[in-house]
Amino acid sequence: MNKNIAVIRGDGIGPEIVAQALLVLNRVAELYGHSFHYTDVDMGGCAIDKWGNPLPEEMLQKCISSDSVLLGAVGGNKWNNFPSHMRPEKGLLRLRAGMGVYSNNRPAKIWPQLASASPLKASIVEKGIDFIIVRELIGGIYFGEHKTEEIDGQPTAIDILTYNEAEIERIGRIGFETAQKRNKQLCSVEKSNVLDSSRLWKSVMHRLATEYPDVTLTDMLVDNCAMQIVKNPSQFDVIVTENMFGDILSDEASMITGSIGMIPSSSLGSSSCGLYEPIHGSAPDIAGKDIANPIGTILSAAMMLRFSFDMPQEADCIENAVSKLLDAGYRTADIMPSDPSESQNCKQIGCSECGKFICDYLKKL
Ligand code: NAD
Repeated sequence: MNKNIAVIRGDGIGPEIVAQALLVLNRVAELYGHSFHYTDVDMGGCAIDKWGNPLPEEMLQKCISSDSVLLGAVGGNKWNNFPSHMRPEKGLLRLRAGMGVYSNNRPAKIWPQLASASPLKASIVEKGIDFIIVRELIGGIYFGEHKTEEIDGQPTAIDILTYNEAEIERIGRIGFETAQKRNKQLCSVEKSNVLDSSRLWKSVMHRLATEYPDVTLTDMLVDNCAMQIVKNPSQFDVIVTENMFGDILSDEASMITGSIGMIPSSSLGSSSCGLYEPIHGSAPDIAGKDIANPIGTILSAAMMLRFSFDMPQEADCIENAVSKLLDAGYRTADIMPSDPSESQNCKQIGCSECGKFICDYLKKL
């Protein structure tokens, strides 16, 4: 298969980690007989320096016309005091809006080899943690009206939470389709005991469930879900939820895995062209030292193969290679165990060694 991938290396550690993901993609292409073509796109601080704009229109168009976008990270201290329209993050917001991605999908997975990095008890981690949160990204209270006005003689803040049926349906379908590609369990999270928007959410999810008979749908209130993620996370396969609940729950879920450098994400809209990026930022404190962990970006590339290119075996092949690297005891600095009894069985490696070793472990399944 031929695929065109727009590549945003970005700032800080972005170019280092993206370079490793491209090595891995190239090796997968060789193994499976695919052809991946890359188009470099400037976005973030580097685009401000070069073009005076965090995402020039021409760069956005390159992303929109690609089959998918792989992003490292943007931002850095150098641009912190620039006016808001000239901030690296503005490029990211414009990219998401321009691509029309309304669904953010973040896996929470504990690799058994890194179980001790989780803040959860071993007895909970041992059961296995491997789920995805599908979060609605461009609706709900974050995009409603916000105002503060004088009511009854005192300043009163108002934030409006709105969802219409079509907005719920399109994210619901992503939830069901994601579950179909995994263990076919979908948990819809809302607050239907209090909120009208949640009652509409719940009714739409149940209407959709009739179209996806292979997926088992359950409902959970958001406060209970926040507890269950730390008490019994192995019960989850796919969680689908609205914007603000998803924002909070996905950060909670990433914390229980113990390592920010390992977590990929995808953002999808109505076409198969998605935006794939690690959840961390540009880590300026370690940029240029060849010590960053590229695995979150490499796993983002695997998500691209699975969710945008319909290449599940190729995605499995990358995830297996990461698992073999961890089995062999190789660790970037951020995931080196601090306990000497554990670290004596591990060997610290740099960013480029990590990419190279993962390529060596790639085997066609
Ligand atoms: P950060 O995620 O960049 O870094 C937080 C900490 O985690 C740092 O100590 C860093 O060294 C470490 N870290 C992050 N990724 C790592 C990796 N792959 N390997 C090893 N260690 C890693 O968050 P921050 O410091 O708050 O933000 C730095 C810059 O990144 C800011 O300009 C921020 O705006 C930007 N940012 C960008 C994105 C994005 O591009 N999507 C997301 C978040 C933050």
